[in-house]
Amino acid sequence: MRKNIVAGNWKMNKNVIEAQQLMFQLLEYKKNNTSNCEIWIAPPSLYLMMAKDLYENNEIGVFSQDMSEHESGAYTGEISADMLESIDADGALIGHSERRQYHGETDSHCNRKIKLALDKGLIPVYCNGETLEQRKAGQHLEVVKNQTEVALFTLSAEEIKKVVIAYEPVWAIGTGETASPEQAQEIHAHIRNTIANKYGKEVADEISILYGGSVKPENAKEIFSQPDIDGGLIGGAALKIADFAQIIEGFN
Ligand code: 13P
Repeated sequence: MRKNIVAGNWKMNKNVIEAQQLMFQLLEYKKNNTSNCEIWIAPPSLYLMMAKDLYENNEIGVFSQDMSEHESGAYTGEISADMLESIDADGALIGHSERRQYHGETDSHCNRKIKLALDKGLIPVYCNGETLEQRKAGQHLEVVKNQTEVALFTLSAEEIKKVVIAYEPVWAIGTGETASPEQAQEIHAHIRNTIANKYGKEVADEISILYGGSVKPENAKEIFSQPDIDGGLIGGAALKIADFAQIIEGFN
């Protein structure tokens, strides 16, 4: 059975005091929460060890927002899979659209990163999604299929089962514009079919596929109720405990 997951991507927000406060609030919330989902956060990498210290019983998953495609060496500013493993991090976001847009990441980079993450026992959260131009041109299904194939199809069946996918249409990220539950469901089912065609339905059915892009307390429940949507990757609304909690309640 695949997992339901609500993950907060904090992006480049919060100083250390604010970050610690939100981590504490989330821990308190989690103690009484009965939602049928896992809760993960991806804070700035500077705060990953603090999160792991605080969540000593692994109540909340701790993820890096990115990870190097190289194993180690002269790559200034980068964080390796080995480093993440050594602090017991749970995994890393890979190929977020902001990494693609501002840092030139491609699906070939993602493919290398995903492999390295899996080799270290980390969960890769592979992010994909089409741009507004691609959607307007009616290319969204083809784009997402191609992204999925390039990033994931060198993996074995056992490996791909460990990947979490986050479909994040670029036009819905931070814009307040959300894909409708039907639009999101269409792509999620399409991603699952793409995987099923290569690896079989049983493998595809085990993979959690999250939706990301302007998920809010008001729309979370309806989005999560779609058959191929297994949770959300939340940006702005993950920065306030009240909003994030209400989104998690979408699984009640
Ligand atoms: P928003 O929820 O702010 O649109 O961001 C989505 C996102 O990029 C999560 O990774």
